Amino acid sequence: MTAAAPPLSEPVLILGGGLMGLAVAHQLARRGVAVLVLSRRRSEAAGFVAAGMLAPHAEGIGGALLALGQASLERIPAWVAEIEADSDLSCGLRPCGIVVPFSTATERDAYPTAAWGMALERTALEREIPGIGPRWRAGLLFKQDGQIDNRRRLMRALERACVQRGVRFEEGSEVLELITASGGTAAAAAATAAAEPEPTSPAGATAAAPGASVAKPATAPAPRAAAPGAALARPAPTPAPDRDRLHQPFAGSACAQGKDSPTGLAPESPGAAGTPPTGRPAATGAADPRAVAGPANQGPEPGTAPPARPPRLQAVRLRRADGRELVLPCQTAVLAGGAWSARLMPQLPVVPVKGQMLSLQGPIGALPRVVFGPGTYLVPREDGLLVVGATSEAEAGFAEGLTPCGQRQLEQGIAALLPAASGWPPMERWWGFRPCTPDEGPLLGPGPISGLWLATGHHRNGVLLAALSAELLARGISGEASPGDGEHLEAFRWDRF
Ligand SMILES: Cc1cc2nc3c(=O)[nH]c(=O)nc-3n(C[C@H](O)[C@H](O)[C@H](O)COP(=O)(O)OP(=O)(O)OC[C@H]3O[C@@H](n4cnc5c(N)ncnc54)[C@H](O)[C@@H]3O)c2cc1C
Repeated sequence: MTAAAPPLSEPVLILGGGLMGLAVAHQLARRGVAVLVLSRRRSEAAGFVAAGMLAPHAEGIGGALLALGQASLERIPAWVAEIEADSDLSCGLRPCGIVVPFSTATERDAYPTAAWGMALERTALEREIPGIGPRWRAGLLFKQDGQIDNRRRLMRALERACVQRGVRFEEGSEVLELITASGGTAAAAAATAAAEPEPTSPAGATAAAPGASVAKPATAPAPRAAAPGAALARPAPTPAPDRDRLHQPFAGSACAQGKDSPTGLAPESPGAAGTPPTGRPAATGAADPRAVAGPANQGPEPGTAPPARPPRLQAVRLRRADGRELVLPCQTAVLAGGAWSARLMPQLPVVPVKGQMLSLQGPIGALPRVVFGPGTYLVPREDGLLVVGATSEAEAGFAEGLTPCGQRQLEQGIAALLPAASGWPPMERWWGFRPCTPDEGPLLGPGPISGLWLATGHHRNGVLLAALSAELLARGISGEASPGDGEHLEAFRWDRF
């Protein structure tokens, strides 16, 4: 831990008021820390977009990410109880179990997390999921997985819990820059990544301290190779899970190429080996997030002194909803900018992976459990609303809106998984952006600037991971870290790639 506990008089700034920002703000406030949330537009947050599956096992993830997911899953009931107690609102937690269907028992048995599930043959599968499509011959039931109504309940309950706990909000305030104290050493360069240090006092801003430098967002950071050995000293990255290969047979890349699978079900299904990944963010070329790692990720040049210590956060520059810009001094902040995080801090390897969703109104109780199929999943809420997700479109960048291909993918998935649901009336269609990293694990803990903490990059498991992520951050910032925290924070350091 590089950051000391903040003085109680000065608020910790939360940069981004989506799911992670609210969850961290709430946990900090429960510890008596003053908090101010700077939120550009909460309605765009992936926290409102997600299906709310709590699915470390059904997703087939592994390694440190699975351990984090399991620990967070365990924490969720107590976390939800805290939010509900503070907000007086229900979060819509449903420990309903998740079924992963397969075409064959062989595919089922090869699933990475099969050992955590209950094996189902066709008859048992039909019992668990009445009306499941005929092509599914086997399944895994993960009773320990579940769902939460993030879109309609959890986010609102978190907002209210935060307010009740004294968190202050600046909705419509976009953080434009992070300002550091340069100290006149090479450390400043480490923080500014793609930007040259420059004097502060931008137009319209209040005075920034002399010697401050600005970590300026770069719109197009130049790709830079990491220095030899720079990555080797780091703990092994969480291996990129194979689940996209296992789960996205008709995901977004087919859409981007204008191709449709004739049935909506590509030949592969969960557990199929040797299928090219389709939903993964690009791993090479200009879009490779690893290629934008800035100077802080590199070893010292031969003959130059290594940076003594990271630069220190001094202030943030922001633009309020009324158009006014100002500089807000701060010593401690949490970057929770979701898919947009790298715009503020270009050395963070976070890229958007777009997801499209829809919902149908079904009969109450028609589907007792979540069904997690390849490329499509069905999440039944208590009132019969069936939330259906999701495309995985790494190549879409921040392109807004629905696409016919993306929506067709979901409709074909519904027909294959639960044919009767194809006749249920559609209620909503929406989209959003997952914050994805090269190994699809989050960036948690101290960031490249001293005083700046990270809670971002949670990709497709942010709802699941919110409980533990918020606690890890709140404990770290308030100086209460408990023994197990270090292991998780080490595994998800921002510079592990
Ligand atoms: C289609 C889809 C389905 C998903 N399904 C699931 C699921 O079933 N289970 C699961 O666990 N996870 C799921 N997720 C993932 C989960 O939603 C995300 O991991 C999680 O919401 C990330 O939270 P966040 O706070 O980091 O980002 P967000 O919730 O996106 O919030 C980021 C916020 O930061 C704000 N912001 C950005 N830049 C600035 C700035 N400069 N100044 C001020 N504010 C700023 C934005 O306006 C935004 O409101 C899904 C995601 C998607 C898109």
